[in-house]
Amino acid sequence: MGIKETAKALEGIGFREIYSMEKLERQKGSQSEDRKRLLEEHFSSFRDCTKCDLHKSRTQVVFGDGDPYSPVVFVGEAPGEDEDIQGRPFVGRAGKYLNKKIEEVLGLKREEVYITNVCKCRPPGNRKPTPVEIRSCFPYLKKEIEIIQPKVICCLGATAGEGILGKKLSITKVRGNVYPYPYDPKIKVLLTYHPAYILRNPAADREFVEDLGKLKDLIG
Ligand code: SF4
Repeated sequence: MGIKETAKALEGIGFREIYSMEKLERQKGSQSEDRKRLLEEHFSSFRDCTKCDLHKSRTQVVFGDGDPYSPVVFVGEAPGEDEDIQGRPFVGRAGKYLNKKIEEVLGLKREEVYITNVCKCRPPGNRKPTPVEIRSCFPYLKKEIEIIQPKVICCLGATAGEGILGKKLSITKVRGNVYPYPYDPKIKVLLTYHPAYILRNPAADREFVEDLGKLKDLIG
């Protein structure tokens, strides 16, 4: 007898809660499908985007990646060379470091969180995206966040923080701080370093781990 039949049989002899649990599991599954479908529809809507100059040199638009039910969305700056080629965010050295820290500190696998960028196309020579490019691309990130509804947005580096909060930041001064997300204040925004910065400045690893510890408390 399958789980559905068992639940129905038990319901018949008064175990209503078991049937309700089976129903809830089914609903959760279909909601998860919905979020996945909504993200896919969203990505299809800007696969050929030419809103800013970054479209001229990209190989492809790099969409967000991970669990649409994640309580945390990590936001980086923009794709680098590896990401531009593979079409996934954070797959180079910085990505590997980030995955390791997510596992060590949060106890989660990469596929259990959601990772994306403020700008979805690679800036030439890995330069910082300009304010115009960030503003052009931000509506796509905003929509991703609306679909996922995370508890926390973890901004990796000043550019991500500036894109999300809409103001200039000095990451060394504000890292570890928590702010309300301007478009949905029940979502918290935690600022920390970009993993690429830590690879260049290994001493910052201790503060990064401290910030991820704070993130773990925030997501509960
Ligand atoms: S960076 Fe964003 S706004 Fe610019 S072309 Fe790519 S998808 Fe469009």
